[in-house]
Amino acid sequence: MDWASFTIGAWTACMLAFAAGAAGLYFVIGRQFLLWISARLLAIGLLAFTFPPMAGFIFADPQALLVARLVATDVSIALAGPVMATYLERSLGLNHLRRLFWAVFPIGVGLALCAPLIARGSVPLWVHSAVVLVMVLMMTFGLWSAIRQKSRPALFQSIAWGPAIAVGLVAIYSELILGGPLPFYAQAMLAALMVELIVTPIGIGDGFRIVQDQRDRALVGMRQATEASALDPLTGIANRRGLEHHFTSCAVRPVGIAVLDCDLFKRINDNFGHDTGDRVLVAVGAALGAGENIFPARMGGEEFVLLLYGEDWRRDAEAARRNVPAVVAQRVPELPFPVTASAGLSAVLAEETLETVIRRTDRALYAAKDAGRDRSIALTDFRRHLTRLEEVA
Ligand code: GH3
Ligand code: MG
Ligand code: MG
Repeated sequence: MDWASFTIGAWTACMLAFAAGAAGLYFVIGRQFLLWISARLLAIGLLAFTFPPMAGFIFADPQALLVARLVATDVSIALAGPVMATYLERSLGLNHLRRLFWAVFPIGVGLALCAPLIARGSVPLWVHSAVVLVMVLMMTFGLWSAIRQKSRPALFQSIAWGPAIAVGLVAIYSELILGGPLPFYAQAMLAALMVELIVTPIGIGDGFRIVQDQRDRALVGMRQATEASALDPLTGIANRRGLEHHFTSCAVRPVGIAVLDCDLFKRINDNFGHDTGDRVLVAVGAALGAGENIFPARMGGEEFVLLLYGEDWRRDAEAARRNVPAVVAQRVPELPFPVTASAGLSAVLAEETLETVIRRTDRALYAAKDAGRDRSIALTDFRRHLTRLEEVA
């Protein structure tokens, strides 16, 4: 086998392999432009069969050879239009350019259908060159406009197609103005198309990287939004949703729970204003969040819940509750009286829901309020009908 046959064989194999690769990638990421790229590379691959030395083996009739070459050329140019129309970023809009690129396709297919007439001489060859020139100019203008709108696929494809467009324009100039075919046209065009084969995958890879970056950023944003929706904006500790999430998703189950309510909170708002009331709530959140083995949450209003994980969970809860007046006094020094809280405590049983535990523990909280506030009362023996309440020392 001679080198020319080997080179063109390898070239065609590259085109067909990449066409298969692009089609295969379509089934992974579902982007339509990959199918159009695949079809275009297939058409270009077939174009090689119309150049020597392969053309000599396949086409005995020179007229049939010319028809095949015209059809392969026209179809591969026609397919460049849909490649760009489906490849441009949707986020940029650019619908007018998309329409321009789509328009290249029927022109190219129509021209391919006229190939037998041109080969027979019924239509002069310069008409073919002129229509190809129109398509090339449409593509060039579209790419240039898209690049100005910061389209990265357009940038990569203009680099990929630049050499082929240049060779095409010189060939058309030679055909229309100089009146003869461009010498070494086949070699120049095949080399130019090789550039397309190298640059197009780089462009696709670049697109993947951008999509991946966007996806990563969206995931980070989503995680931040989810975290934010689980936090109480005033105190910065968990809200009811965050508490629920922690209770159900944390691998370790709490041993006990405390439901706390600030005592006589209304008078703070009434006498010192809502803003001071808010500052007190922030201080209470800080006081409750200081302990180890405690997950604090604000349920709403001036009511808080503590999930308790320590062995001595009742004492931990009581220490947190007793911490409230000191922290509030430190953070809101203008209050002339101590701010206290009452708490209901209960053990958490296996399998029971947060709602059930809280509803049960609320009874102990009411008992603490009834008993004069500023204390903790724990539920004991609640598994039987008899409910025993016990003040925590
Ligand atoms: P008790 O000891 O019986 O619990 O008395 P209390 O005054 O604390 O209870 P009450 O339910 O009568 O009043 C709770 C007050 O908490 C009423 C409401 O205005 C206030 N409050 C609820 N949410 C907020 C808030 O986000 N900011 C402020 N500043 N006040 C709030
Ligand atoms: Mg209260
Ligand atoms: Mg309350």
